[in-house]
Amino acid sequence: MTMKDVRVRFAPSPTGALHIGGAHTALFNWLWARHSGGRFILRIEDTDLERSTPEYERTILDGLKWMGLDWDEGPDAGGDWGPYRQSERLDGYRRRAVELLDRGLAYKDGDAVIFKVPLGVEMTLHDTIYGDINIQSDRASMNQDGSVKDIVIIKSDGMPTYNYAVVVDDHDMNITCVIRGEDHISNTPKQMLLYRAFGWELPEFAHLPMILGADKKKLSKRHGAASVFEFSDMGYLPDAIFNFLALLGWTAGNDVEIFDRELATTLFDLAKVTKKPAVFDMDKLNFVNQEHLKRLGAAARREIIEPFWRSLGLSPERREKKYLEDALSLMGGRGRTTKELAEFSDYFVDFGPVKERYDASDISSDRRLAIRGFLGELLSSPEWEAAKMEELARRWCETNKTPLKDIAMPLRLALTGRKVSPGVFEVAALLGRDECRARLTHYGFVG
Ligand code: GLU
Repeated sequence: MTMKDVRVRFAPSPTGALHIGGAHTALFNWLWARHSGGRFILRIEDTDLERSTPEYERTILDGLKWMGLDWDEGPDAGGDWGPYRQSERLDGYRRRAVELLDRGLAYKDGDAVIFKVPLGVEMTLHDTIYGDINIQSDRASMNQDGSVKDIVIIKSDGMPTYNYAVVVDDHDMNITCVIRGEDHISNTPKQMLLYRAFGWELPEFAHLPMILGADKKKLSKRHGAASVFEFSDMGYLPDAIFNFLALLGWTAGNDVEIFDRELATTLFDLAKVTKKPAVFDMDKLNFVNQEHLKRLGAAARREIIEPFWRSLGLSPERREKKYLEDALSLMGGRGRTTKELAEFSDYFVDFGPVKERYDASDISSDRRLAIRGFLGELLSSPEWEAAKMEELARRWCETNKTPLKDIAMPLRLALTGRKVSPGVFEVAALLGRDECRARLTHYGFVG
């Protein structure tokens, strides 16, 4: 088999949104397919008729697309090995079950079909990530008391079970490599017995490491955001989620931590994935997100931030695009998420939030008088340019024996409502003379 023949699949059950664990599995399959020049197949495992819905299927597909993952075959994309929904492949499962019945390898119990677990078979699961795991068939499927438990393959309602359908499909769809979460290691011996019964060659198995929350417990909904769209709402970029998830269990090497899809695809190697549990570290995610935010082009960043400004009740459409882009550039990498960046830069869009945060009641009348002196000069200076304003401020402070911060801080607060911002004269320059005058007048700092 050459690398180009690699066929991997992501096989979600449409019983919920695309969660972090699923997104991680999908991503590693995608990376391996794209790295090897093989194919990435999307198969919908919707045999749980009660819990599966078309809406969940849609949100999973949308979630994958949001992360920038595309697939070569799938329910919407078509392909030579379809259909790609298990509910549309029932004939195949039943036909195969009859085959096992005919060969005496399975028996009926009512309408259900049960696979008879053979005893005394020694097997080795060669897992690309976990290494070799030896298993005895007697222990592949057990009752609570440790006795052998035969494997239901078709339930009495006629639907196949997961362990059975997954084997039939991975074989029939010519899947060469099964990449999935470590929680499926315990299912693999059952599946191996079915491959053996059919006389089919095993695919390669690669089980991905467990993902832990900061408390070192297995990641679950308890750890906050669950679906990829919740991360989107919190202000994380798809590029950053992609980058961060790729780092859970894999390192790009050479200290490369921030990468795009192309670089990740080039560097990825399934053999370098570790079985060591990976910790979902929010600080790391914030760092990765911030780095991707910094790398965005000005227009792209503005487009991404605009909806977050709007959700703060601001109206960026009243401003020039160029002005908004310059404002975001001036933020100089502040803000770990798009949400934070929108909040930190709100005063560029509108004066409203400034008024809400700051009322100037901290300024005594003496200081107000001094500030007025300086600001009067500032607003009437011929040039409205940051370096010139700063020069003027320094000169004024020297002449008036005033520390620079005594005028810079009230100015900053009146313009931004914040104690921390980019250089206050740069902010003033970008806001423009008229806007500055209006804000300063509101606080009684001029006039
Ligand atoms: N539908 C299964 C799941 O979502 C697929 C597991 C597998 O990849 O074999 O867990």
